[in-house]
Amino acid sequence: MNRRSVLSVFAYAAVAFQFSVLALADEASTTKRFEHAKASEPQLIAFVKNMPKGADLHNHVSGAVYGETRLDAAIKSDLFFDPTTCNFSREQTPGSVPAKELLTNNALAAKYLDTTSMRSWRSANESGHDHFFDTFYHMSVPLSLSDSLTEVLSRAKAQNVQYMELMANPVPSDAMNAALADPPNVDDLEKALAQMQTRFPAMIAAAKTNMDSLDSQLSDLVGTKAPITGVAGPINFRYIFSVSRTVANPNFFAQMACGLALVQADKRVVSVNILAPEDDTMARTNFDTQMRIIDFLWNRMGKPDLTLHAGELTLAISPVEVMRSRIRKTIEIGHARRIGHGVSIAWEDNLPGLLAEMKQKRIAIEICLTSNDSILGISGNRHPFSLYQEAGIPMILNTDDEGVSRGNLTMEFVRAIRTYNLSYNDVKLLARNSIEYSFLPGASLYVNGDYLKLVPELADVRNPGWTPSARCMELMNASDKLTEEVTLERAFVEFEK
Ligand SMILES: [Zn+2]
Repeated sequence: MNRRSVLSVFAYAAVAFQFSVLALADEASTTKRFEHAKASEPQLIAFVKNMPKGADLHNHVSGAVYGETRLDAAIKSDLFFDPTTCNFSREQTPGSVPAKELLTNNALAAKYLDTTSMRSWRSANESGHDHFFDTFYHMSVPLSLSDSLTEVLSRAKAQNVQYMELMANPVPSDAMNAALADPPNVDDLEKALAQMQTRFPAMIAAAKTNMDSLDSQLSDLVGTKAPITGVAGPINFRYIFSVSRTVANPNFFAQMACGLALVQADKRVVSVNILAPEDDTMARTNFDTQMRIIDFLWNRMGKPDLTLHAGELTLAISPVEVMRSRIRKTIEIGHARRIGHGVSIAWEDNLPGLLAEMKQKRIAIEICLTSNDSILGISGNRHPFSLYQEAGIPMILNTDDEGVSRGNLTMEFVRAIRTYNLSYNDVKLLARNSIEYSFLPGASLYVNGDYLKLVPELADVRNPGWTPSARCMELMNASDKLTEEVTLERAFVEFEK
């Protein structure tokens, strides 16, 4: 090595040292700002709103749209509002009024908004669980998927959320109905799958056409780079196909098979989830059969990443027997890589064994604090947040149904920070988890999920002066996950400046 190169090595080392000190100093001053903001909710909201939050991975688009948007859509479509049923319809019925009357009749507008959200719900008078699930029976207004996605993605983008996995069905309803008509007998699962396979091509073709069209519309509407299901812009998303758990087994099989066929056919659909009240009689009595169906289809259809609601239960709505194995079975038989809610975890048999298994398999928990509070009445130290945190289970904060809850991802962070006295580092961990445990394809920026160990080629990505080398670009082009993780790390550098 000649003198010139030795000097340049020293110069590089000095610059690198300076960068790392700078990075630490910036994080330290941001930590101070964060600790100061914690004392006042408005100050904390202002801090968290601008903070990079990574992703929202548990978001039902139908419940994410605010009632005001539906009300506007009903007025625009000249519908009629029935104050007795709190529903809109195309035809005027006795007692109903033109929707536009709700522009001037504040009491009627408030009645609609209260019926379709937790806005004025009071726990003393009504079960939060019943009021929440009832809201979905009052949402029949002509609101397109494009409009719904635009609202949800724009709101997230404005709060520095960079990625979403959205529970939204990209199959147009006529193609979906055709695929699900006459569902197969599930006594013979092989035969049932063969019957469904003949329907996949038409359903997949319709979904692809719809997603192509949404890709081109949404990039403009949300103001991001095209396609919005790619990683080039400030926000992007993928679809999660939702299957109802409150239907008969043949219908459950048909829905699950369609969802998994879509995941196999198009990378814009990353997973399938099961939804609707977990304590519903059909969901409870069919649970073991549903897990057997998922196990069968998962093995036959490419073993994809699954996220499944499990343990959104309390003693008030479920016998304890159910809760002794609900989360374990969802992982071991249902192959869930992420668990939605997991509130009933403490009732699981051999809890230490289950937590160790989750940690070893890197199963993440999608925490939905506001939703758990209003639907289950579980909050503060009655919530298993600290149990998961102490067990080292990867946690992600999510909105669940932000339109119904009247919330957003900023408020989920604010609630978690103030309730569990989180540090700035805890908060960064939650944001990093949301990308690391997403179902984006490709290798990770981190070695074995350790956020202190970055892959060697990107070891200095947290330095303020970092610019991507050709090799870094190669790695990012090969992995959507790594690209989003680099985006998040750079967003933290900017935020902490
Ligand atoms: Zn949910």
